Amino acid sequence: MTITTLAKLSALLEKGSASSVELTQDYLSKIENSDLNAFISVDVDASVEQARKADRSRQTGNHSKLTGIPVAQKDIFCIEGTQTTCGSKILENFVSPYTATVIDNMHSHGIVSLGKTNMDEFAMGSSNENSYFGSVKNPWSQETQTLVPGGSSGGSAAAVAAQLAPAATGTDTGGSIRQPAAFCNLTGVKPSYGRCSRYGMIAFASSLDQAGPMTHTAEDAALMLNAMAGFDAKDSTSLDVPREDFTSLLDNSLEGLKIGLPKEFFGEGLDSDIATLIENAVKEFEKMGAIVKEVALPNSHLALPSYYVIAPAEASSNLSRFDGVRYGLRAEGYTDLNDMYEKTRSEGFGDEVKRRIMIGAYALSSGYYDAYYSKAQKLRRLISNDFSSAFEQCDVILGPTTPSPAFEAGSRTSDPVSMYLNDIYTIPVNLAGLPAASIPAGFTQSGLPAGLHLIAPYLQESKLLNIAHQYQQVTDWHLEAPKSIAETITGGAK
Ligand code: GLN
Repeated sequence: MTITTLAKLSALLEKGSASSVELTQDYLSKIENSDLNAFISVDVDASVEQARKADRSRQTGNHSKLTGIPVAQKDIFCIEGTQTTCGSKILENFVSPYTATVIDNMHSHGIVSLGKTNMDEFAMGSSNENSYFGSVKNPWSQETQTLVPGGSSGGSAAAVAAQLAPAATGTDTGGSIRQPAAFCNLTGVKPSYGRCSRYGMIAFASSLDQAGPMTHTAEDAALMLNAMAGFDAKDSTSLDVPREDFTSLLDNSLEGLKIGLPKEFFGEGLDSDIATLIENAVKEFEKMGAIVKEVALPNSHLALPSYYVIAPAEASSNLSRFDGVRYGLRAEGYTDLNDMYEKTRSEGFGDEVKRRIMIGAYALSSGYYDAYYSKAQKLRRLISNDFSSAFEQCDVILGPTTPSPAFEAGSRTSDPVSMYLNDIYTIPVNLAGLPAASIPAGFTQSGLPAGLHLIAPYLQESKLLNIAHQYQQVTDWHLEAPKSIAETITGGAK
């Protein structure tokens, strides 16, 4: 069983040995026969119609590399005329009147949207167990235990790992692309803050949110990012920088590359198998001519506490728009306006979302603002400065993506802090706005995927993808598929 990459599908379409309609129908039937709960909704007619249009574009020679390739979209992105739930009951019946810029960009590249993937409610979570639409099963689950796919982009990760889609979009506020990529043996890229427009992407924490690709390979991630990224006047935080071809540096040699290893990422709490796999990866890079040195990120232990003030503070403000007046659910049987707000929000939001709103409102309230919110912002600056100093000594920072491999479903739901600790290595990157990737680095003794975390200086996605791609030329961890999938998939998209 080999995995199906975007690059392969692109070549198939180019040769004319498959049509977009065939590929799309093939994936749609895999989705229908899957029991992972990776999708919240699928609009078969809309996808097939897009595929027809893509086939016509290919016939007229008016196409991009990705024209006709079906991709799954996280249900945080608005698509006009399509149910967009963000994993929440409050948006269960919300049909978006417009399309997110990232999706629009992909559609103008001819990409076919394959359905909306499951996710933690409003992207709050690390296991996809906070979805109103039920939890998602990691296709790497073992006979004896059901594992979580990670979160919040757990549906996207499970879908790509199980080959229900060749690639998917995700969003990353504190690790939600990279952590599920690590748990499901994928390549996941969080671009620099501002690279991809946030217009039409439902906001969780606006100073941290960023969209990105989830794929099998770094090459595919570069192709996807080419289609997703770009300046957008409709998002004031979108970066007005020239368009880049993220595939342009993929083949560069790593001779002389300086890799920084922060000792803070290898301390207590790191699974010993993952530590060994990361050490092995470092040796591979040395063989390719990279120079490894220790760097310091002395304030990383402050990232989690500062994130869990800043993200809820921003969320409490962003989520105030869901009040039963204009969007989604409105509770029945209320007595006055305040009662309507209260009933709608208490019926519409799940427990984790309520917890964040309460923490956020508290941290922002007068009298506590300085003690919590301002303090957290100051810590954020220290964390960001740590990265700047480290990048004076190295070109890229390397470590594990997560402290543990995928864990058993239900094992952390009663202890939010143990859940939050999963993002200990990914969160500092969001606070600093940097680009980072998680790529497959091998398997623990119990056969679970481990993620290698690469962090680059601001706007150096091309470099980041170059490093990831070169590693994937000398390893084949990213080509491994879960056994359950390898046995069942025989469809046409080979
Ligand atoms: N797991 C983190 C949280 O719950 C990050 C989520 C994300 O990146 N969207 O906030």
